[in-house]
Amino acid sequence: MIGSGPNGLAAALTLARAGVAVTVLEAQDEIGGGTRTVQPFGEGILVDHCAAFHPMALQSPALAGLEAYGLRWAWPEIDAAHPLDDGPAALLHRSVAQTAAGLGADGRRWKMLFGGPSRRYPELAGDILGPVVHVPRHPLLMGRFGAPTLLPATLLARLFRTERARALFLGTTAHAMRPLTEVVSSAIGMGILTAGHHDGWPVVVGGTQALTDAMAAALTDLGGKIETGVPVTSLSQLPHADAVLLNLAPQAALALYGDKLPAGTRRAYRRYRYGPGAFKVDLAVQGGVPWRDPEVGRAGTVHLGGGSAEIIAGEKAVAAGRMPERPFVLLGQQYVADPTRSRDDVHPVYAYAHVPAGYDGAASDTTEAVISQIERFAPGLRERITGVHVTSPAQFAAGNANYIGGDILTGAKSPGALLLGPRPGRNPYRTGARGVYLCSAAAPPGPGAHGMAGYRAAQLALRDLGVGRP
Ligand SMILES: Cc1cc2nc3c(=O)[nH]c(=O)nc-3n(C[C@H](O)[C@H](O)[C@H](O)COP(=O)(O)OP(=O)(O)OC[C@H]3O[C@@H](n4cnc5c(N)ncnc54)[C@H](O)[C@@H]3O)c2cc1C
Repeated sequence: MIGSGPNGLAAALTLARAGVAVTVLEAQDEIGGGTRTVQPFGEGILVDHCAAFHPMALQSPALAGLEAYGLRWAWPEIDAAHPLDDGPAALLHRSVAQTAAGLGADGRRWKMLFGGPSRRYPELAGDILGPVVHVPRHPLLMGRFGAPTLLPATLLARLFRTERARALFLGTTAHAMRPLTEVVSSAIGMGILTAGHHDGWPVVVGGTQALTDAMAAALTDLGGKIETGVPVTSLSQLPHADAVLLNLAPQAALALYGDKLPAGTRRAYRRYRYGPGAFKVDLAVQGGVPWRDPEVGRAGTVHLGGGSAEIIAGEKAVAAGRMPERPFVLLGQQYVADPTRSRDDVHPVYAYAHVPAGYDGAASDTTEAVISQIERFAPGLRERITGVHVTSPAQFAAGNANYIGGDILTGAKSPGALLLGPRPGRNPYRTGARGVYLCSAAAPPGPGAHGMAGYRAAQLALRDLGVGRP
């Protein structure tokens, strides 16, 4: 196994649970990739380095049973909030009915879109958390959920009459970091909203690192080995193995295996496109963020992008390589669900802006743009800030080879990539080289700390190895 991100560890755990001897080789000194927690403001203030909220994780078989290894989830009172310049913020609750009740004239439409699919999400999850092109286990249910996901988010947003409902919907679809006018740009947001209306948007108690630690403990309990500080750049570094799973970006898989991959895979991996980046600004804030609408202070996630026109324009600019003056910012107040992350009255506030691929604008200007975007909805924030810690796209890329150009999603989620995965073919986890599988967020179901690409690639490897068959 190369790489110890959530997909790498999930794959290793799936193999180890089937009785296969596994060794994980990790480039960095710490395991976890995008599922780590750091303390840039000193002991006791816990900041998620990347993944923070986990609406898609609860139905993941890869993470089942980790409670025995210390994994605990905690939920904010309100899953997400979308403040606007005028009037109260739009609020996303786990309950569809409660969310709808706050959306006035659009409540009925919100219920119509999310009520049915979210009620039956556990059945739907098996179909969503894998390759898009497959024979669904629940064709009617999948059809009802899937048809709207093919639409551009802007078109689906027109279902709503009010600016609050539109902004709430578009703010969530913006997680895909794609132009929202593109076909299939609704898909990732629809998945998050449907899952969230069933399972909420939980955080991991003690930071997302605790998820990594639980997976690693379960793996070592089963005899699995983990070696850190081993950047694998040559096949000669690999011990003999019947199967090799790559928790890597396609570009790295190509660099490693080169001519050993069939021509079709080489071509597809060479053409694989990477997406926009993230510029992260973590803040230590005395007394928390002074939101104009106090309800926003009860939400785990806050989407800061103003109204629908501004969100659409911002995502369009970023995709075209231009930095918007007011970037779309995703803000996390994990401490409202998990108070163990704060030190006394000083709370960690996690925020990142969507920025163009390879963005190298001045850190001071970009930090200022992020803080201004927060302060727009929370006047007086600056006086409360006691610490600022910045991670630029280049720093993300330097700390994790999968984040090419600062792309935190391991690839642009274009319609082609969403529908076909990293290479056309019957199974996106196969590289075409015997016994070599791709299991990173570049493979379906894509980004997130659910471990499902790892789980599915490992299941395929077990089938090929004949493990578990009578
Ligand atoms: C700022 C930010 C916010 C995010 N927010 C969320 C969120 O709220 N919820 C959510 O679910 N997801 C979120 N994500 C996305 C999530 O973190 C990723 O999708 C997820 O971590 C991908 O998992 P992975 O296992 O495929 O790879 P990664 O987590 O990227 O891990 C890959 C690992 O492989 C190692 N590696 C790479 N090359 C080599 C090599 N040659 N040799 C050895 N090791 C190698 C890397 O060092 C790394 O440890 C966020 C990401 C970022 C950066």
